Amino acid sequence: TYILAIETSCDETAAAIIKNGTEIVANVVASQIESHKRFGGVVPEIASRHHVEQMTYVLEETFNQAELTLEEIDAIAVTEGPGLVGALLVGVSTAKALAFTHNKPLIGVHHIAGHIYANRLVEEFQFPLLALVVSGGHTELILMKEHGHFEVIGETRDDAAGEAYDKVARTMDLPYPGGPEIDRLAQLGEDNLNFPRAWLEEDSFDFSFSGLKSAVINTLHNANQKGIELDRKDIAASFQASVVEVLVEKTYKAAEKYQVKHVIVAGGVAANQGLRTALKERFNDQLIKLSIPPLALCTDNAAMIGAAAMIDYEKGLNTDWSMNANPALDLEMYGAR
Ligand code: ATP
Ligand code: MG
Ligand code: FE
Repeated sequence: TYILAIETSCDETAAAIIKNGTEIVANVVASQIESHKRFGGVVPEIASRHHVEQMTYVLEETFNQAELTLEEIDAIAVTEGPGLVGALLVGVSTAKALAFTHNKPLIGVHHIAGHIYANRLVEEFQFPLLALVVSGGHTELILMKEHGHFEVIGETRDDAAGEAYDKVARTMDLPYPGGPEIDRLAQLGEDNLNFPRAWLEEDSFDFSFSGLKSAVINTLHNANQKGIELDRKDIAASFQASVVEVLVEKTYKAAEKYQVKHVIVAGGVAANQGLRTALKERFNDQLIKLSIPPLALCTDNAAMIGAAAMIDYEKGLNTDWSMNANPALDLEMYGAR
């Protein structure tokens, strides 16, 4: 079974072809980071235009890599939401047009289900499974008892982890996207600034990063006023230590409580070296299997969308022609349909 997948929810124009839900045949990502850098973040209108310009080339390159034709494709999958509505629409319109004209089933995919299924391109899932989703817009702990079903057991009450990284980086005058920049600096610095850890209520699997973000910004501001020069490497290391400690401990506690067999990490922040190392140490007792995708599958791509779509394909679930870009698509409801 070959699935063609398209992803345009944010600032990467991506297409991929996946074989049998687990094997990457082609995977093409055109990033727009350079176009958004000078604005310090993603500009939605620019993102949509770039998707329109890039889509045809990205699809051509995907079919070239795969050495396949559209006729050999069994289904067309696309990110239906959540994301930027104008950006999503480019992918959804393209997928609908291709599926309609070539008479192929159409499968709408939830972007976060995609991030989770990036892991299935590396390793088969074992249930019950716990996913730590840490991306630009989401920070969630998700329990899965079977393929295609998602139960959110904890989520951020304010900023997402990636969002906190990008905002802190901005106040440190680091270029967009700030996550990788802080990660790089953190590895050279020391956790010596005692930033707060937001544990919230005992037994809560929710997260909060806005207090930490404010603490970093205040520390920078106060030092600035007193004319003290703080080492940016230590700020990065202290901020990262706080984020990582809370993410790892809550994931571990949830894994124990729900007695899961498999823990997976998903989303752009899963590329974080500090987080990857800390998770591997925490889960090294080998009772619970830990999977972290390779860096290229952590950030946005279409391979993960194709992998998630395979679950619906196997159940014979097609999305009908009324499918539309849904910027607020709910993960649990998507899993229950
Ligand atoms: P969502 O998936 O929630 O819709 P998104 O698609 O914009 O949001 P992703 O592409 O999954 O998010 O991830 C991008 C985020 O990951 C950015 O916030 C970026 O700073 C962060 N990120 C990428 N690499 C790293 C890293 N090494 N350390 C920390 N954060 C990182
Ligand atoms: Mg992105
Ligand atoms: Fe994403």
